[in-house]
Amino acid sequence: MAIDLRSDTVTRPSDGMRQAIVHAEVGDDVLGDDPTVRALEERTAELLGKEAALFTPTGTMANQLALRAQTSPGDEVLLDRHSHVIHYESGAAAAHSGVQFRTFEAPRGGFTADDLKPLRRPTHYTLPHVSLIEMENTHNHRGGEVFELERMRDVWAWACEQGLRVHLDGARLWNASVASGVAPADYAACAHTVSVCFSKGLGAPVGSALVGDSETVRRAHRLRKMFGGGMRQVGILAAAASYGLDYNLQRLHEDHRRAAALARAVATCTRLRLARPVETNILILEVVDPNDTPQRLSHELRAHGVLANPWEARTLRMVTHLDFDDAALARTCEVVRELRS
Ligand SMILES: *Cc1c(COP(=O)(O)O)cnc(C)c1O
Repeated sequence: MAIDLRSDTVTRPSDGMRQAIVHAEVGDDVLGDDPTVRALEERTAELLGKEAALFTPTGTMANQLALRAQTSPGDEVLLDRHSHVIHYESGAAAAHSGVQFRTFEAPRGGFTADDLKPLRRPTHYTLPHVSLIEMENTHNHRGGEVFELERMRDVWAWACEQGLRVHLDGARLWNASVASGVAPADYAACAHTVSVCFSKGLGAPVGSALVGDSETVRRAHRLRKMFGGGMRQVGILAAAASYGLDYNLQRLHEDHRRAAALARAVATCTRLRLARPVETNILILEVVDPNDTPQRLSHELRAHGVLANPWEARTLRMVTHLDFDDAALARTCEVVRELRS
């Protein structure tokens, strides 16, 4: 089987996780009767230091519920121009919430209030109403970069002073936490709402959650039904997510270690170089020769049994995960070292 580094979403549920699915106690969650979902929601809220949580089928839905629950059509959202909600959610924010994005280029390590202040608008009926700030940690497009806690605190303090809502896209917050040693709740304290994912690093087949204050989560609960995300005996999925928290959270440092090892192998390859420092489990690799292309390299890697997708015009991406072990690492390093022009 090919070594698949296209994303950390490619993992398959382990035997242990499948056992947890088989034995899950379930009920109709639309009626509020699924004990496994409720337990997962309570646990997730507690882990992130928030009042409530809502299980969702995808991270996209969790983000979109957060936007819809905390904005009105025509509002403006301030966020880094490479944010997942802008590029990889099918234009959902425009379709579901009718918000407008105002973007800026965040510096390495995340932005601060100083990056946002120039975007604050005076109150006037002709101007858009700025209502929400969005942060992403780790940052997908920026190659798994960790948003520094001090900077998040700075943004949070300013947002509170300005009366703005804050949403944190934490699809890979677990990776940020493991890499930095900062507790997930400490990051979550810098936002009103946070989305987290159980199906990337934690290896569940499906599932994310939106956490926040009870009032916002209550609104999101209604919106989830409206968006078609009310699910019935979904404890079978919540059990997988819960298993992921039990067994796959503390091991994420292994994914980071393997990503770092892969980065060292890339350093010896003449055709690829790191486009960004590797902080967690994502490598963005730049093609060195102007006559070479990411598509060509992707094909060559595939011929050697390694899957890595072209990313931007000059880059490829590799993501390490639960199903990428030391043997796969050794083989991938060998393939990378042997890439010849
Ligand atoms: C993967 C991801 C999401 C959500 O993706 P889904 O495929 O909808 O679960 C959201 N934000 C970021 C930063 C992500 O990496």
